[in-house]
Amino acid sequence: MEYDLAIIGGGPAGVAAGVYAARKKLKTVFLTKDFGGQSIVSEDIQNWIGTVSISGFTLAENLKKHLEAYAGDTVSIKEGSFVETVEKKGSSFVVKTSAGEFEAKTVLVTTGSSRRRLEAKGADTFEHKGLTYCASCDGPLFSDRDVVVIGGGNAALETAAQLMAYCKSVKLFVRGDDFRADPITVEKVSKNPKLTIFKNTRVIEVKGDKFVSGIIYENTATKEIKEISIDGIFVEIGLLPATGFVKDLVKTDQWGHIVVDPKTQRAHLLADEIVSGGIWAAGDCTDGLYHQNNIAAGDAVKALEDIYIHLHTK
Ligand SMILES: Cc1cc2nc3c(=O)[nH]c(=O)nc-3n(C[C@H](O)[C@H](O)[C@H](O)COP(=O)(O)OP(=O)(O)OC[C@H]3O[C@@H](n4cnc5c(N)ncnc54)[C@H](O)[C@@H]3O)c2cc1C
Repeated sequence: MEYDLAIIGGGPAGVAAGVYAARKKLKTVFLTKDFGGQSIVSEDIQNWIGTVSISGFTLAENLKKHLEAYAGDTVSIKEGSFVETVEKKGSSFVVKTSAGEFEAKTVLVTTGSSRRRLEAKGADTFEHKGLTYCASCDGPLFSDRDVVVIGGGNAALETAAQLMAYCKSVKLFVRGDDFRADPITVEKVSKNPKLTIFKNTRVIEVKGDKFVSGIIYENTATKEIKEISIDGIFVEIGLLPATGFVKDLVKTDQWGHIVVDPKTQRAHLLADEIVSGGIWAAGDCTDGLYHQNNIAAGDAVKALEDIYIHLHTK
């Protein structure tokens, strides 16, 4: 059968779209690996509007329950299906997944992003043992400790600022000879006496026994290699959008975010070189400037409204 819509992804964006699709009676197939999205690891989310505080795990459960409550016969939920490719077939699309193929007139991509991982010896071994990709989740565990933040963008600077509130010292390892972060943020954060900035710094190895205890790094300008003792490492070296399965179909930016029209969330189909009426995207997988749970959900609702109009004015 041909669906009106295939929604890909079970984070806040995908679920918001799924609930609206059910209410608008769009025959939908909902394809996701799992429910909840990136903030599932957070212990305490305080800005999910209408909810004072919620753990990422409970938010994931609530998202799933909300979709299931309204899905009925309209939205067919295929949890556990990983999307491998999306191909154009006439004016429709074929979505190939680990759980079979699905045909739909329109596609909404809400597959989010994942953290770019540190490539250094020991980085994988010590993940969750002192090396973390989530300062908001794990930062408070490092009160009065000496930590390193790796990265030179806004996320790294903001992480350093957050950690300086309770850590004994913060060393910021920047790979290049300058920051990618806004100058105002750099100026503000660098004033804190707890912070030491190391530019031209490449991590060679994360050391430890049961837990991180040190780090070996190279100054790429002088080629000098040093080892220092450290209690924790926070990696903030960017995000990788999960968009590989549509990269030959839609326009993406240099990082792989799907380029969308911010009024409608429509993507540009490469074949047509125009803003399409076939593929939409919302949330962290897009080139939107700001990435948060509420924004992802809101953008997906916007997309759904536009998809509905598109299907009913064809
Ligand atoms: C540690 C952490 C803490 C955060 N805390 C907050 C916070 O407190 N408040 C806030 O507003 N924001 C927070 N954020 C940001 C927020 O989580 C994201 O902005 C939000 O999750 C984006 O939602 P999304 O639906 O676009 O994508 P995601 O949440 O990334 O969801 C993507 C979904 O797509 C699925 N998927 C991916 N690829 C495929 C595929 N090929 N096939 C099938 N399914 C696929 C995934 O399994 C997942 O279900 C946090 C982020 C992180 C990493």
